[in-house]
Amino acid sequence: MEELIIGSHVGYKKDTGLVGSVKEALGYGANTFMFYTGAPQNTNRSPIDKKQVEEAFSLMQENNINPNNVIVHAPYIINLANDIKNYDFAINFLKEEIKRVDTLGMKYLVLHPGSHVGIGIEKGISNIIFALNLALKESENVVICLETMAGKGSEIGSNFKELKQIIDGVEKKNQVMVCLDTCHINDAGYNEKDFDKILDEFDELIGLNKLACIHVNDSKNEVGAHKDRHANIGLGEIGFNTLLSVIYHPKLKGLPKILETPYISDLTDENKSYPPYKFEIEMIRNKEINKCLVNDVINYYKNL
Ligand code: FE
Ligand code: FE
Ligand code: ZN
Repeated sequence: MEELIIGSHVGYKKDTGLVGSVKEALGYGANTFMFYTGAPQNTNRSPIDKKQVEEAFSLMQENNINPNNVIVHAPYIINLANDIKNYDFAINFLKEEIKRVDTLGMKYLVLHPGSHVGIGIEKGISNIIFALNLALKESENVVICLETMAGKGSEIGSNFKELKQIIDGVEKKNQVMVCLDTCHINDAGYNEKDFDKILDEFDELIGLNKLACIHVNDSKNEVGAHKDRHANIGLGEIGFNTLLSVIYHPKLKGLPKILETPYISDLTDENKSYPPYKFEIEMIRNKEINKCLVNDVINYYKNL
């Protein structure tokens, strides 16, 4: 039986770099992880230490983490859909990011397609295609994974048709794939109670061979809310059993599953919050909901 490949979003700090990210993932009992090459919300990036990357790779090898399952996420503030504001900056940043992913020895770069901000979906999509074709000239290896979006504001990519349109316009077809986010598709209007139907639609339009990874999140909002607020596993509107049916779906076997659920606040100290991933991974592996998730997380990290 093939092992479940599961991990979470982890930090990436200037001093500890990729080594720190691997160690954090191991602390959660994960066998993969996802990281940003700096802060997710800004574009300040420091040069990559090759020695540190080597050290991280041996650490991964020792602990059975296959680097091909590790995901990089591009900062969510770069917007390739709108060519009026900061378009050149966004393209140049993506070019540099692709080079960084190469230097880090990674393959998959998850990217939010972007928001058109009033110029219309069609123009937005053609801007994204133009930017991707330019940026992908920087590498023969890196695969851009377009993320399915919740459809908040003027976000592009909240339905499979739009993602297909983008993929159709990309010249280097083998360097573009999709990252499916369970919270985002819920908020976009896909009811995961009938996940087979969703996969059939995806297969028909884009092809299941184009799925690179799954972001596993519960959602604070109901189907079609267009909100994009992640909830802890089993504590949202999607629910534990439905999420399990996605995670263990035979057609998604072998794909990395990445948690991006919110940190849990310490009820006695509002300045503190703790990562839920160790406990969420446990309950996913056990296929059994942990009714004490919040308390278990707080107690574990408080007493560490
Ligand atoms: Fe994302
Ligand atoms: Fe996501
Ligand atoms: Zn999200």
